[in-house]
Amino acid sequence: MKDQHGRKIDYMRISVTDRCNLRCLYCMPKEGIESVLHEDILTFEEIIRVVEAAAKIGIQKIKITGGEPLVRKGIVDLIKRLKNIQGIEQVTLTTNGVLLKDVVKELLEAGLDAINISLDTLNRIKYQRITRKDKLEEVLLGIEKAVALGIKVKINCVPMKEFNEADLVDIAAFAKNRKIDVRFIELMPIGLGKSFQLITYQDVKEKLEKIYGRSQSSDIVLGNGPAKYYNFKDFQGSIGFISAITNEFCEECNRIRMTAEGDLKLCLHYNKGIALRPLLRNDINKEELQKILEEAIYIKPRNHCFLQPSSNDLENKNMVQIGG
Ligand code: SAM
Ligand code: SF4
Repeated sequence: MKDQHGRKIDYMRISVTDRCNLRCLYCMPKEGIESVLHEDILTFEEIIRVVEAAAKIGIQKIKITGGEPLVRKGIVDLIKRLKNIQGIEQVTLTTNGVLLKDVVKELLEAGLDAINISLDTLNRIKYQRITRKDKLEEVLLGIEKAVALGIKVKINCVPMKEFNEADLVDIAAFAKNRKIDVRFIELMPIGLGKSFQLITYQDVKEKLEKIYGRSQSSDIVLGNGPAKYYNFKDFQGSIGFISAITNEFCEECNRIRMTAEGDLKLCLHYNKGIALRPLLRNDINKEELQKILEEAIYIKPRNHCFLQPSSNDLENKNMVQIGG
């Protein structure tokens, strides 16, 4: 369906948990985390009901996210069920990759279409500093296994001043040496993300061009998102930039989100949402649910409000609680 600004909304990001096995500095505090109670997290049945209604009004692509989606029990089964919903053409997953190697084959068999793996550095010490855990080895094994099985893999990296500035060239090398796309995502001032300094996409591009030579901008659309892609000579994969801050892409926004507790969010950056869980638990029928989604999507905000930080509407949660 189209929203009031004429944008086609066909993509939904669904968080299945607010728990995570890492503690990335810009996403989650080290301790003092108040997790959502288990009974307040949507069940798979409830998620399926929402997706069935969403599919009826034009949602075709689903991204499973979190927290870390692979820590939720039964995730393979959920993916299988989502793939079977009429109208859903694509189900993909974003993960930190720590648990991937043990489950990637099952994910592929369940019909998962692609995997995004978040990785900010290849340096073990810096990985520990950023994620507060020593899990780089596991992530790299997960990437190897996913590539070997032939599932489409993208690496997502958040460049941050003083943390991984010197490592971006090595991360980009994934796209040189393998058929993997690498995307650099500008840090957004959400929750803990406000405490760190982003590196703009122009700066990242310049750094890469110093080592790999001039890049060619590409019109190719890979995946569901707002990434702008570039081709570097002799690279097997592409390099993408997602720049919500320096290159606002709200005009082309195609997505809605649902948090693990069932709050429908029309824009990542606003604290407003529609609490679907009480409705689902009050036996709302299919048609009513569909109507609520339709009305909510129609009034999706025109653009984000990062650049008006005094706005009362600004989202204060950490990304781990929203779903990235
Ligand atoms: N745990 C999974 C992962 O790391 O891919 C899924 C959830 S995580 C919240 C999704 C994505 O959000 C990750 O790629 C992470 O780097 C990104 N992210 C978290 N906080 C961010 C921020 N403040 N700005 C930009 N990206 C952020
Ligand atoms: Fe966990 Fe992903 Fe957030 Fe890192 S970015 S703390 S892996 S949810």
